Amino acid sequence: MTVNEPLDQIAARLQGYDPRALPVATAQAFIAELVPVVQATEALPVREALGRVLAEDLVSPIDVPAHDNSAMDGFALRAADLADGRPTRLRVVGGALAGRAFDGVVPPGSALRITTGAVMPAGLDTVVPQELAQDGGDGFVQIPPGVVRAGDHRRLAGEDLARGKPALRAGRLLRPADLGLAASLGVPRLSVRRRLRVAFFSTGDELRSLGEPLDEGCIYDSNRYTVWGMLQRLGVEAIDLGVVRDRPDELADAFRRAAAQADAVITSGGVSVGEADHTKRIMAELGEVLFWTIAMRPGRPMAIGRIGTETTHPPAILFGLPGNPVAVMVTFYAFVRDALLRMGGALPQPLPMLRAASRERLRKKPGRTEYQRGIVERGGDGRWWVRATGSQGSGVLRSMSEANGMIVLHHGQGDVAAGDEVDVLPFDGLV
Ligand code: AMP
Ligand code: MG
Repeated sequence: MTVNEPLDQIAARLQGYDPRALPVATAQAFIAELVPVVQATEALPVREALGRVLAEDLVSPIDVPAHDNSAMDGFALRAADLADGRPTRLRVVGGALAGRAFDGVVPPGSALRITTGAVMPAGLDTVVPQELAQDGGDGFVQIPPGVVRAGDHRRLAGEDLARGKPALRAGRLLRPADLGLAASLGVPRLSVRRRLRVAFFSTGDELRSLGEPLDEGCIYDSNRYTVWGMLQRLGVEAIDLGVVRDRPDELADAFRRAAAQADAVITSGGVSVGEADHTKRIMAELGEVLFWTIAMRPGRPMAIGRIGTETTHPPAILFGLPGNPVAVMVTFYAFVRDALLRMGGALPQPLPMLRAASRERLRKKPGRTEYQRGIVERGGDGRWWVRATGSQGSGVLRSMSEANGMIVLHHGQGDVAAGDEVDVLPFDGLV
């Protein structure tokens, strides 16, 4: 990717690029080429790095575990001392506890009482779990034949992580296990990329903000709440620029302010085909912007590009989403989520999908991707089943709120018969 490559050059590289009927996959490929990655990094204490993107490989400074140690409570011994086909009697010369190693010598023909995690003394190679050994109480332990093989129940030094090997790769979105992993290496701070700054606002004269009276013909702005929520989950810094009315000067001012302080700008509304308002014109004036009709439902119109041309600040990536509340969420998950993760330096990971049988027949036209809101649950037969939530209108936010996943009907797919399996994107899988 070249930074600031002209948009038509990116388009020219893509197969089947048609801005008036753009397949979802082509739009995703375009956006992946468009977005730059933030370069700045900061070193954070391990806990503060949760949800952030690791900037460089974390190379293990130590072996984990640092020593060979026991995986069980029992007796450590030499496998070579075990007799074939008959019990073996060994003298117990002492004990090793986790955190307190045995500092004597264990001569051949003897054993050591040992607890889980205790260091294996030199020469001993095998642990017999306590319940398989007969402790005589007389300073000797008897091991029945065939209860262990050489090396059993011994954890090797460096088995989890070897010194000098990458324990975590750059680009990783840090999860709870990763914090623990870093701590297990004794690493107190992690180098992460700086948080992405994302400004967002809603456009439309009919929109009112919470706390304002609802005038005749007006609606409350809900998109700023869903967008804010989706941005929070991604761990970016979300900058709310409010509702912007359909006035050229106000729109221009909002776009300029957004581009000056953010890496990405998300707007909703005003990008429909044949839209009479000023949003599209101002976008085109202030940046390099394409207006797409995407072969998808909901969420057909979308603007994409770079906005803000001041030389003091690199342009921000613009995601001009449709106005309808469901379309906003669907286009966010289909395009913006992955793009913001990339911009933040994360390695893109395909979202895990579930295969579920459809409870009902679903009508679907080939040649576009459809995202239906669904409720997926485990049937009495143990399989996953999904049904669509009531009205699928793109303005009906309730369909989204009631759903626990999206039924993804792919570009080439046609009607789905009851009982056919479909792909479902569970909302719980979305960070
Ligand atoms: P537009 O794309 O601007 O024509 O908007 C499409 C539909 O979405 C219209 O019915 C708008 O009233 C509605 N809409 C636009 N923005 C919002 C918003 N922020 N919150 C709720 N509904 C909206
Ligand atoms: Mg509008």
